[in-house]
Parts: sequence; C-alpha cells; structure tokens
Amino acid sequence: MEPRYRGSSKRQDEFGGLPNPNIYSERNRRGTRYKRDEEPPVTALVLVLAFVLAIFFFVRHVDYKLPTPLTVNDISENPSSFIEERARNDLKTLTSMGSRVSGSHENDILAVDGILRILNDIKNSKFAVHNLEFELQKPTGSFYVKFQDGLTHSYAHIRNIIAKLEPAKKTNSSDTILVNCHFDSVPGSPGASDDMVSCTVMLECIRVLTRQSKPLKNPIVFLFNGAEENGMQAAHGFLRGVEGNSSEVGHKWAKNLKTFVNLEAAGAGGREVLFQTGPGNGWLLDVYKKVPYPWGSVVGEEIFQNGLIPSDTDYRIFRDFAKIPGLDFAFIKNGYFYHTKFDSVENISPGSIQHEGSNILSLLENLGNLDFSQIQYSEEKMVFFDIFGWYMIVYSETVARMLNILVSVVVLVIAWLEARQSLPEVAWNIFSTVVAWVSGILLAVVCGLLLNLFGYFSPFHSHAMSVFLIFGIPCVLGQVLSFSFLLKGNEDSAWIAGKTTLALLLLTTTLFSRMVFSITYNLIFGMLGWYAARKAMSNSKERLGLYLLIGEMFPFALSMYLVTGCLDTFVPIMGRSGSETVPNVFVAILTTFTLTIPCLSGIVPILMFFKKTVLKFGVVLIAAITVWIIFVNGKNPYTDLTPMRLHIVEVDRTFYDRDLSTVKHTDAGFWLFNIDPNIANFMPEFTDKIPELRNPRELDAMTCKELYCGLPYFFPVRKLLRRTHWIPKSNGLSQEHKGRVRMEVTQDTYVSPAVRRVTLSFAGPDHFTVNLSPGKNFDLIKWSLTDEVPPATGHIQDNRPNYFVFHSRGIEFEMLDITMDFEKKPGKDNNQKDVLVDINFASFYLFGDNMKSEEMKDMLRKLPSWTYSLGWSAVTQMYSIPA
Ligand SMILES: [Zn+2]
Repeated sequence: MEPRYRGSSKRQDEFGGLPNPNIYSERNRRGTRYKRDEEPPVTALVLVLAFVLAIFFFVRHVDYKLPTPLTVNDISENPSSFIEERARNDLKTLTSMGSRVSGSHENDILAVDGILRILNDIKNSKFAVHNLEFELQKPTGSFYVKFQDGLTHSYAHIRNIIAKLEPAKKTNSSDTILVNCHFDSVPGSPGASDDMVSCTVMLECIRVLTRQSKPLKNPIVFLFNGAEENGMQAAHGFLRGVEGNSSEVGHKWAKNLKTFVNLEAAGAGGREVLFQTGPGNGWLLDVYKKVPYPWGSVVGEEIFQNGLIPSDTDYRIFRDFAKIPGLDFAFIKNGYFYHTKFDSVENISPGSIQHEGSNILSLLENLGNLDFSQIQYSEEKMVFFDIFGWYMIVYSETVARMLNILVSVVVLVIAWLEARQSLPEVAWNIFSTVVAWVSGILLAVVCGLLLNLFGYFSPFHSHAMSVFLIFGIPCVLGQVLSFSFLLKGNEDSAWIAGKTTLALLLLTTTLFSRMVFSITYNLIFGMLGWYAARKAMSNSKERLGLYLLIGEMFPFALSMYLVTGCLDTFVPIMGRSGSETVPNVFVAILTTFTLTIPCLSGIVPILMFFKKTVLKFGVVLIAAITVWIIFVNGKNPYTDLTPMRLHIVEVDRTFYDRDLSTVKHTDAGFWLFNIDPNIANFMPEFTDKIPELRNPRELDAMTCKELYCGLPYFFPVRKLLRRTHWIPKSNGLSQEHKGRVRMEVTQDTYVSPAVRRVTLSFAGPDHFTVNLSPGKNFDLIKWSLTDEVPPATGHIQDNRPNYFVFHSRGIEFEMLDITMDFEKKPGKDNNQKDVLVDINFASFYLFGDNMKSEEMKDMLRKLPSWTYSLGWSAVTQMYSIPA
C-alpha cells in the first residue's frame, strides 16, 4: 500500500482540499488510484480562465487610471486644490529651451531665470499670512558616493534655487520639511518627466499653499536643484557645498531639516510611485497614507535598494548627508522614453501631473502641520503596499514577522493534519512543488535560450505584457506536467502541496525580506476560501466558485498588480542594462519566478483537473506565440517609439610620454558602448548602412592594458559596460575641443622621505573625469577631495587600485586642483620604468556646437529610425607620472 493514498475514501475526498469541479468521478473515488480519463466540463475551465483574465484586466486598469486633470476653470470651485493646467503651462515654458545639461546656458541661465520668474509671480500674488523667500545658490564641493563601482564627485558653482515658505508671523516651529526636484536634464532630452514636471508640481504647490488663509505651522524648503544628472551633485551642494569665499558649509536653510520628499522619474507620465521610504520611521508612511491616490510598495524599495535598477536618486544624498528619513517618488511608466528626446511635455499623460500634484500637496499640508516633537523616531523597517491605489497598508517588520510565522505555522499544521500526519506525504508534497516550480522556470529559461539561438533577442521589448505569453505559458505547462507526473493519481494534493511549500518559503524568507507580504495574503485568503468552500458548499462547481472568490481573488489580484508593475518597469530597463545581461534569460526568470508565487498554489492545481485540455490548448497557444514572434514581431523587436538606445562618442585620444608634454601617439575613433545588451547582435544592421562603423574592434574594459582601455567612461560603469566597440578613424577632433583641455603638475615635492606630494591642475569643459591609479609601489594616502581617501573604484592590472573622479562646473570657468600624497611601499626600490600614478583624463562636450561634429551628425542621420542615438564628443589624455 502506498503511504500517500491510505485512509478512508471520505477522508480522501475532503483531503482534496481544493474545492474543484468533480474532483473524483463517483465511479473512481473508491479506488486507491483512479483513472482520470474524464475531465470536468470545459465550462469550468472557461470560468477559471475568465477569472484570470478579468483580474489581469482589472489590475492593468487600476495601474493606468489617472484622475481628471483640473483646469483654470475649476479654480473658483476648488480654490485650495492643485490645478494641473497651471503646472502644465509652467512646464511648457520651462522646457521650451530644450535639454538642460548642467553648465549649459539653457540650464544655468534660462531655466534658472524661468523658475525665479515664476516664483516672483507667486510671491506677488500670495496672501499676507505667508512668508515666501527664495534665492540662487552656486555651491562648490566634493564627496564620495557608492554609485555603481563608487566614485568621488567634485563640483564648482553648480545651480540650486531654494525657496522657503513659512508663516509670516514667526511661530515656535523651526522643524523644516525639504522637497526636492531637479531641473537639469541629460543631453538630448527635454527632461519633462525627468524631472522638470516635479519642479512645476512644487511651484504649483507653493502657489496653492500661499493662497490659503491659514499658514502651515512648519517651514517648507523647496529645493529646485540644477545638477542631479551629474550624479546627484546639487543635492550635496545644498547640504554641504560652500559658496564664494564663505566658510559656511551648506545652505543656511539646510538646517533643522526633519524629513524630505524627493520627486524623480525613470519613465514618462503615468502615476508616481513611492518606491523608497525611511530609513525606518513608519510615521512618514502614516502621513503618506492620507494622500488621495497612494501608490507604492516595499517591493520597489527592496528591488531598488538591492541595486537591481541601474540608477540612483538624491534620496541617497539626503539620507546619508543630512541623516534624515524621507520619501522617494518616481514616475516609472513608459521607461522607453526615460533619458531620450521623447521625454517631452506632450508625452505626459493628462491626469499624471494632477496625480502627483494632489498627492504632494496633501502630503505637504499634513507634514506642514505635523508636531515633530510628538514623533517617535525609530529604525524599525516597515512593510507597506497599496490596495490598487485606493488605500495604503502599513505595518512594522516585527508585526510582519509575527504575522508570517503565525500564518506559516497554521498552514503547516493544517497540511500535517490533512496528510494524516504522514511525514513522507508532506515531504513528497513539498518535493513535488519544488520540482514543479524549478521545472517551470527552467522551461521558460530554455525558451529564452532558444530565442537567443535563433536570433530573436528581446522579442518582448515593445510589449512588456507579452512576457506572460512567451515565458508564462511554457512555465505553467511545465508545472502542470511535473505535478501530474509526481502526484499521479493524487492530483488533489497539488493545492495543499503548493500552500505547504509557500508556508515554508514564507517562514524562512520573512527573516530577510519584507516583500514576501504577498505570500502572507495568498496563504490567509487561500485557507479561508478552502475552509469556507468545504463547509458551505456540497456541489463541486459551487465549491470552485466560492473558493476562487474568497481564496484567490484578492491575493491573485494583489500579486498580479505587483508582478505586472514590476515587469512594466523592468522590460524597458533591459534596453539600458549594459553589455553583461542576457535579457531573454533575465526576463524569463523574473516573469516565471514572480508569476509562480500566485499561480503555483492557486491556478495551477485547478488546471490539473483539465490537464489534457490545458496541454492541448497550451500547445496551440505556444504555436500561436511562435508564429507571432517569427512573422509579426520578426527579429527586430524595436520600434520608433520603443527604440534601441545607441550611445556613440567621438573620441580624440592623446597618449603622453613620461615628461608629460611629448606626445607618444594620438588616435581617434567612434566609441560605441553596449548600453543595450543586444547591440552586438545588431551590428551588421548598422555597418550595412554606415560604412564608418565597419570593422569595429571589440574591447573588454576589465582586461585592457590601459586604464579603462584609455576610454572616456562618463561614470565608473566598467562592469556594466564591459564590452564596447571601438571604430578607429583617421581624423581627430578640432582644436576647439582639444585646445580647452590641459593637465599640469603645479606641485611636486617630498613632504617626508617616503611621501611625495603632487598637485595636478585640470582645465577642461564643464564635465570631465579624472581616473587615477597609483603605481604598484605606491599608496595614495591623502588627497584634497575628501577627508579620507575613499575606497578604490576598482582594481586594474597588478592589482593596482584606481580612483574615479567626476567633476562638473557651472557655466563659469574654473580649474580643478587635486593635491595627492603618495607613500612609497616599504622595501620597494624604484625601477626606471615605474610610475607614480597613471591618469586617464577625459573631457566631455555634451551640448552646443561642440557636442557633435558634422561627420557624427551625418552618421547618426543614417541610423535606422528604430534606434535612439545619442552622440557626444570626448577628448581623452593619458598620462603616466614617473616614480
Ligand atoms: Zn532625474
């Protein structure tokens, strides 16, 4: 007798657990093994599929639902409401000058003037009970940040506009709230969603708040920062920069800050998501909860803080340098437009500004009247998520852990009782689920690899939700098959097996993850539905209906809401994830892993009762998807509005001899780096059309002899953009480019027998990087940029550390001096060829006439319309200072 099937037939019927249509046909229920030739009526399967589709369309609907934008005609009826139309008008004005790279006339002069003018207008029409002041700050400073491989930032005279709103009559409260946006943009982008729209939301909030009869108790500081795209420099400038000859560190209004609200974008339009909070301090979420349209979850926070999204925000600067907790928001829908020319006002959906505006206004009103002396500051992390944009659930990690342990234990006890306390049966159930889970994911990965093999790279690129068809269906079929095989004759066990495994997963993961909350609700509702259906209904079809309604509807919708949101974000990110990702495999794993949590213990066990129909239907669907991929989508998944990102730099390089003035050699080329991981596969498409791009040399930045291959990396992303293409060309850049770039040694002395002090002076355009690597016999022990020498960015050959410095300045010219102390390692004698330090000094021309040569413009014009190409110029100088 097989242990898994012992017990009375009645018991076995109940053990079915999952109320399903016709679990056992009457004829077969008495046998220990029953034949399953007959399936329940197909109408039940249709009901299940309709249930799944209805939930899918419901979550898509709420995910894209936006409020009706208010217009100037609505002001009389809504005098204290946020008016989208006014913000949109400001946005049109403030983006009309085009892209605003920090240091350009457009950013440092035109955008600054535009914002100051609007602030002035608001000031002129404010009510007398409010005090509104604002000023322009041009800070200088430096700091280290662990972004990508880690780098040291240096900046001079960048722009910040800071406005302070407080009651005209002085109150006791100096507890200040900070709100931040940035008005600069990346090259080539009008930067509407990223991030001028948030600046106009802040302006409209000031407009509304200053026309209310009662002022808020606490001061609010609005920081319009003008250099975020430079790696968050302006936010640092506000907190720690110095101005002119003043010795005061940080802006005078950067005092008494209690909390901050950061407004960002990684997409265009849609709703803004709350994706990071704290650290700790659940009271912030309790305040946020009151906004009209809450949206956000701890899933975003854990994904972002684990570095899965190749971006960072000013949140890091406020958290690390002001040591205050805050809320981080971003527009994330339509990530294809992020950092492209498509990030325009027109591409911000109506209602999108209203959504953010109404939320931020409400948030500021509540924070503005908060009594901070009553706040309990705490390090405790929080679990938070919204219920379809209607309501926000917030509780602490401790509560989450207690709840999760309780729920898991209850489920495990039920599973134990249902398995008649048979350890082999419980163990077999768990084993079967794990195998089903893994085999589903593996099958999807195999599909991804097959797509790669046949040259279909990222077929989902333009249709994020197609991943459910491309990877989700094979995964579910794989799970149905594995379950059917492993639980043959006892398919009813699949449901309890899935729930048991999820309970174990929850029990173990709750100690290090907060995003497992969706499992908690899957188990709670699943058990309730199971119990209710079993008690209340005798008819198996009714049981299925009631179970789906109670047991699956809410948790499945909640999970799908998170899974679709996650995929919506990640699919466009794949297009800028660098040379080292394989999108077909990454997305296959992401889709199936996340999809499996709601499906494996809910929908999959139900599908098993229709397995023949499901398998037939599945095969037909896979055939249809294959036809779609091959004949409709084709080998090129990119479109004009969901283009492939191409970044091309025209590089002019000079390698200097050890005397630092004799030119050893010079060369020039186009440098194409694989920001989109599929670029290498599409190279023939480009070289066919553009002869200049023929014969590219593939470079590997991790193994190059020269420091970072002697290439002008903008940020230290050598690991992310490891493989790149270098296409040599005969003519270099003009004297207009090269004449503005110069490095000089202005000090070279020994401060002690073992310590040599060197000062290097750099002259260049508004953006340049200095990548330094001390020789193998020397240590960099001190430098002028930060109090301590920061951790190395990475290591090059001979295990030598390198330090990456990113420098930018405002429109005013200024040299950068870096003074460094190098200490000789004990017992090391100098060899004639030894170096003190190698230097890769790269200067960037990111806007204006120097950005692109005629040759480059001509070449970019020839690129296909399904690419989004961004070109700029860079002058690189390589030096080795002898030991
Ligand atoms: Zn931004």
